[in-house]
Amino acid sequence: MAKYLGPVCKLCRREGEKLFLKGERCFTPKCAFEKRSFAPGMHGKSGSRSRSATGRESDFARQLRAKQKARRVYGTMERQFRRYYETAQQGRGLTGLNLLHILESRLDNIVFRMGFSTSRAQARELVAHGHFTVNGVRSNVPSMRIHAGDVIQVREGSRDTTYFKELLDLAEKRNFPAWISRDLKNLTGAVQRLPERAEIDGNLNEQLIVEFYSRR
Ligand code: SF4
Repeated sequence: MAKYLGPVCKLCRREGEKLFLKGERCFTPKCAFEKRSFAPGMHGKSGSRSRSATGRESDFARQLRAKQKARRVYGTMERQFRRYYETAQQGRGLTGLNLLHILESRLDNIVFRMGFSTSRAQARELVAHGHFTVNGVRSNVPSMRIHAGDVIQVREGSRDTTYFKELLDLAEKRNFPAWISRDLKNLTGAVQRLPERAEIDGNLNEQLIVEFYSRR
């Protein structure tokens, strides 16, 4: 299970916006982007690296940034993201929307959407440590693809841990999307359907991602 191990907040600074990768910290004054909202590196403040001589960002730079941002929001590595794109291309309908559906269907994302974690990174850890079951079977694969009708539950043996005991109060304050149902008392949730495009947040531009891969 490959994952990015570098400084997380630099990713937000690189993308020029808050990607909310660190859970609660992102909403506090400790957020690195609040203090330094320019790109990391010696040219960060001038922002000249991705701009042409006319000062405008090139098409390629915009496409690359759109792809990198989506990859970082969902915490996937380059090769895996490309595989998702290829799968999306083979599906029916719009490739961009298919790609977003694949990303939203990852088990770690569903756990995050259900409010069982403060970030996708934390959800990934919780899943990797085997705290969840999918349709009654324990799963420790964060990238596992979840389908409509699948039921995700906190594993029986994990319910008594401090984290999940405290979660009951915290998760109540967290919203969850309409395409998911949640039963906090039983630490269970289910995917009702795939999300509509308008229900997928994160300021993502899937069209630019499609253009990025199409030019190669
Ligand atoms: Fe991004 Fe969160 Fe770090 Fe702020 S605290 S820079 S939003 S990951």
